[in-house]
Amino acid sequence: MSERIREKLSILADAAKYDVSCSSSGSNRKNHNKSLGDAGNGICHTYTEDGRCVSLLKILLTNFCIYDCAYCVTRKSNDIRRVAFTVQEVIDLTINFYRRNYIEGLFLSSGIFKNADYTMERLVQVAKKLRLEHKFNGYIHLKSIPGASNELMHEAGLYADRLSINIEMPTESGLKLLAPDKNRNDMIQPINYLKNEIILHNDQKKLIKKTPMFAPAGQSTQMIIGATAESDKDIMLTADKFYKDFNLKRVYYSGFVPISNDKRLPGLGSSVPMIRENRLYQTDWLMRFYGFNVKELLNDSNPHLDLDIDPKLSWALRNLSQFPVDINKADLQILLRIPGIGLQSAYKIVQGRKFQKLNWEHLKKIGIAVNRAKYFITCNSHAYERRDLTAMNIKQYILSGSSGKNIKNNPYQLNLF
Ligand code: SF4
Repeated sequence: MSERIREKLSILADAAKYDVSCSSSGSNRKNHNKSLGDAGNGICHTYTEDGRCVSLLKILLTNFCIYDCAYCVTRKSNDIRRVAFTVQEVIDLTINFYRRNYIEGLFLSSGIFKNADYTMERLVQVAKKLRLEHKFNGYIHLKSIPGASNELMHEAGLYADRLSINIEMPTESGLKLLAPDKNRNDMIQPINYLKNEIILHNDQKKLIKKTPMFAPAGQSTQMIIGATAESDKDIMLTADKFYKDFNLKRVYYSGFVPISNDKRLPGLGSSVPMIRENRLYQTDWLMRFYGFNVKELLNDSNPHLDLDIDPKLSWALRNLSQFPVDINKADLQILLRIPGIGLQSAYKIVQGRKFQKLNWEHLKKIGIAVNRAKYFITCNSHAYERRDLTAMNIKQYILSGSSGKNIKNNPYQLNLF
């Protein structure tokens, strides 16, 4: 690889690391003293739908941008070195890395040069040439450019596995404040177009086998959290709307990283704690796989997620009247609401109780977190005896990992310090 390409790769991979639609950014570990391995610039990992972890080349096509979004390192007013790959350079890098087994695919995003169509056309060319000229069968994720034409979005869908358009901010007012050049409709229009095209292609494929694939891994979006004052409730209501209205595969939540002292942004020392991102992902998971409605988890009385306990436990403690649940009788949907019982365990319980009544030993073998679930269930052996515990007691015992046996001698102590 030439020095010039290496330099561009270093700049454009670094700029891409703020995009979390790939689950992890490239590591900057270097190979010293002939030790083993070297985490190359721009290589990150993401998970496919079937749970496989794949490594991707994650880069921007360019960090030139005509826009000035306050939260973005690539914004035009930021005094940074600007570079751009040519279409052929991205193709060569991808093929090169793929042949060396460094990567299994490409995640390509871009700042916007000239206009949306001009940029999108180049992104599409990369995917198209990789597929048609190089017969590249690896994974391709293209970040689509809001405002690009339907024709280009259509072409992108024919060659990319996944497409994503960032909605950037949880609310329109947040977007107006920090990215005044951008417009929510320019984002929604292509998301809606892609949704309809994906449905159309899937329907056609059922009738005509030769129908070409169209964005087979669907579409996703990303929003930045903590740059504006939206509550967790606002964030998850927006995510819920996008999942429902546009069949998105994933919404990603990217904690704001303070990169400038722009007065519209929180101060330079105020990055979003990782645990907040984590709680949002847990809530997202509960909405998509555990049958929770967002308003059960977050509402006007509880607009923010607990940072010290997960959202399922938090919900259960606010709804103690719905417990204990008999593990040998409860419907699957109810089992999924019990803290300490995950998807797999819930299915195993439903299977296992067909043959015998389940007791604590069975539950342990199934793999449920008994020390957490015991406050919320009964089963075919002695019940967990302390039915007089309050939500606060249970929370304290779960957090401390204590059994709760000595509760009467050890009343909950207010944390005054
Ligand atoms: S349009 Fe995208 S790349 Fe350009 S400044 Fe805004 S967020 Fe950054």
